[in-house]
Amino acid sequence: MRSRVVLIAIFLLALGATFLLKKPHSLRSGDAWSFRDHFSRLEHLTDSLNSVLADTLEIRTAYVEEGGTLGALLYSTGIEGNTYLNCCGVLIDSLGWTSVHVGDTLEAFYSRDSLVKVRARPRNRRGYYSIEFDGTSEPVDWYWVSEDQYTRLRSVILVVNTSVWASIASSGVPSDLTPSGLIVTERDSVREIAYIKGLENELSNRLFVYDIDFYYDVQPGDSVWVLFEETRYPGSSETVFKRIIAAKYNFALGGMTEAIPFFHQPDSLAPDGTALILDYYHRDGASLRTMFLKMPVPFGRISSPYSDSRMHPVLGYSRAHRGIDYAAPMGTEIYAVGDGVITVRGVRGGYGNMVRVRHANGYETGYGHMSSYAQNQEIGSYVRQGDVIGYIGSTGLSTGPHVHFEMKRNGSYVNPATEILPPANPLLEEDLDSFMLQLPILESTWSRMAGTDIPVFRNEGTDSDST
Ligand SMILES: [Zn+2]
Repeated sequence: MRSRVVLIAIFLLALGATFLLKKPHSLRSGDAWSFRDHFSRLEHLTDSLNSVLADTLEIRTAYVEEGGTLGALLYSTGIEGNTYLNCCGVLIDSLGWTSVHVGDTLEAFYSRDSLVKVRARPRNRRGYYSIEFDGTSEPVDWYWVSEDQYTRLRSVILVVNTSVWASIASSGVPSDLTPSGLIVTERDSVREIAYIKGLENELSNRLFVYDIDFYYDVQPGDSVWVLFEETRYPGSSETVFKRIIAAKYNFALGGMTEAIPFFHQPDSLAPDGTALILDYYHRDGASLRTMFLKMPVPFGRISSPYSDSRMHPVLGYSRAHRGIDYAAPMGTEIYAVGDGVITVRGVRGGYGNMVRVRHANGYETGYGHMSSYAQNQEIGSYVRQGDVIGYIGSTGLSTGPHVHFEMKRNGSYVNPATEILPPANPLLEEDLDSFMLQLPILESTWSRMAGTDIPVFRNEGTDSDST
């Protein structure tokens, strides 16, 4: 129950941030957008959010005043008893917040009168302390969230004429991409390309890959509304594409396809502590994607198909090839075809450098002959569908750059090309209610934003006209 409430709350907070970005008149022009600025605007929004969340979530905010203490701060948000003692212990002993100052803030998030989260924000530091509770007085997790890297929402409407890439390039890339806002150095143009590539890839190769054929279905005048997150680095003003939250593709010839977001618990394979995951659904709650991608490379040709044949009658040796080989240029990205946990990441005989991923429903996939592995992953890492896990190579028994891709179900090899795949992460019955609750909120966001374009960047960044 609580997790549903938290999911809704997270979603509403995310949308809340969106509404903020909708109000250009309240932005300070000239100054770079700052986290604190953002947060103070977010605070003003808690009132209206609270009215929406009235029966599910309550956020109590307190500020340190002259002569204020941590104890007073906690008390004024209703934190008492053992919870109070635990908060003091965590904040002072574990997180090192030994003294409070005027202007420091504390927020206590309650769900049906039960404390779920505490955020403490020292005024003179960049970031905040976070303590999470599971409904009892015992904290379950606590950490410092740095301001150096944080996320914000943007909304754009792309008009697609020649290609999605071109439409993003012409309207989607923020003008403050370069630290100076003026000089596009070689390095910055690389970043710009990475930004466009990230957004385009997620939109056309991941989100709508099953619903829209971007070679044949796209017509001049199509438009796509995208709500997405950027990671912002305040020191450099650098902005990096992070992920799409929601999207709506309107076809010029009529009709549309939506990607409606829902945050839910990862499947049971994910290690404890894995963050809520974001999936996209149709209006009726059906998943936008199937459990597995069709192939583990962005492009590639089948150089050797799956074959179950046992013994070749003439040649006298086994011709079985229980996988599909995709030839692609050396270094091409190899994707995990579905959500799962890495179980093998190392040299495995003729497979050369290999990664195996265990998925839900008894599935396992393997990827051989890699030249190298993706960084920041290890055995036990939880990967999402489409995450890069390695790069095309020719290690092991291989005659040229390709990936040997194989799939097992309950321990037996199956042909990935003919396996009838279940849909990905269907909504649970109890999630469906929350999902439906989101719909009108998302609708109103869409209608408010209809016809608006990049609402924030015109008034921020640098004081020169760099667009
Ligand atoms: Zn092979």
